[in-house]
Amino acid sequence: MRITIHRGIDQIGGCIAEICTEKSKVLIDLGHNLPQGDELVEDKMDNPATIEALCEGCDAIFYTHYHSDHVALFHHVPDTVPQYIGPLAKQVMAIQLNHLVHIPGEQEQRQADVARLKSFRTFEAAKPVLVGEDIRITPYFVSHSAADAYMFLIEADDRRVLHTGDFRGHGYLSKGLLPTLRKYIVPQGVDVLICEGTMLNREEKNIVHENDLKIKAVELMRRYKNVFVLCSSTDMDRLATFHAANKQMRCRPFVCDNYQKDLLNLFTETAGKKSPLYAFDHKVYGVERHNEKLYDWMLKEGFTMLVRTSDKYRRWVESLLPQLNPDETVLVYSMFRGYILPAHTAYNPKTKAFVERFPNFEYLHTSGHATTDTLAEVCRTVNPSTAIIPIHREKDSDFASLEIGDELRSRVTTTSQTVDGIEIVVK
Ligand SMILES: [Zn+2]
Ligand SMILES: [Zn+2]
Repeated sequence: MRITIHRGIDQIGGCIAEICTEKSKVLIDLGHNLPQGDELVEDKMDNPATIEALCEGCDAIFYTHYHSDHVALFHHVPDTVPQYIGPLAKQVMAIQLNHLVHIPGEQEQRQADVARLKSFRTFEAAKPVLVGEDIRITPYFVSHSAADAYMFLIEADDRRVLHTGDFRGHGYLSKGLLPTLRKYIVPQGVDVLICEGTMLNREEKNIVHENDLKIKAVELMRRYKNVFVLCSSTDMDRLATFHAANKQMRCRPFVCDNYQKDLLNLFTETAGKKSPLYAFDHKVYGVERHNEKLYDWMLKEGFTMLVRTSDKYRRWVESLLPQLNPDETVLVYSMFRGYILPAHTAYNPKTKAFVERFPNFEYLHTSGHATTDTLAEVCRTVNPSTAIIPIHREKDSDFASLEIGDELRSRVTTTSQTVDGIEIVVK
């Protein structure tokens, strides 16, 4: 077996890993480099020739989740290579792509993307898929700031590799993480653990659980009548947090645009059937233009409105704000703080300018990634016999700093080498 980390060993996002045997080959994720600020960064792999070369002899591509730093290069993949993603993730991507089709100048490419996505195959949690002649992949659900995210158990050549994808231990659906590892993955042993390490360098020891965020959201909604929320439109947990909080305000409408409403409807029809938390059915209104009746209601009772930083929202907010009492109006910022910190590499001036329009500002966020404690617990639980390969982490972060004991620490591998007959290649 050969494991190749094409990208992600020393950067967050842009992940691409490959596992192959003599007979078969699979790629895990084909991510684009994360944007810096509001600028798309150059990505030397974002071209058909590079991806076609990478896909040479490839039997399948498996995507852990729909974030662009894991999936965005999918449109360069030759038609002959099957691509797999979770069923709900595929539907979220379809809504996203259809939303982007309307961007002037990009119609042709976007329509091609929509057509390509249609050919994606889907997998089910805990159901193995045979790839090529001798690779078996089993997806297991993980909690992340994207809905329908998975880790993969990859079995081939009598070896077992666990690729975690992006995950966290403090979401609504995180409770299953360690039991899943203990029940389905640990008993037969794991040789190599490929593990994300986004939070290694972040000083967030006391991480807030998504459930505690909900309690804080209710407090804010009691304090402010008019609540604008800036959060990811595809983060199902976070949307559920604010929807549940707004529900406690009883008669306040939960307002968004039709694109966001389409996503909420999708979550309601899928995840909402399994947990009422994801049934977005309490006074939810998707609107595109001025709706007299709804506006009167919003002005009278107050509201929660999901916003984004686009020009449409800027105009929407500009028309609303003069009618609202500034003391009763707040923007709840519920995303990574780096986007609004001028010194941060992720700083986005457009986001900062949007945020500054509001009379009051509150930060209410918790990461989509595992804390150092959770990372250590996962490493100890999986206890891989050959190697821990860290990915999706900052260059100078160090897995060896985790509390995992000397033996596991000695297995942390970030360079090319052959261990126990497994060839590890780090590009
Ligand atoms: Zn990621
Ligand atoms: Zn992600």
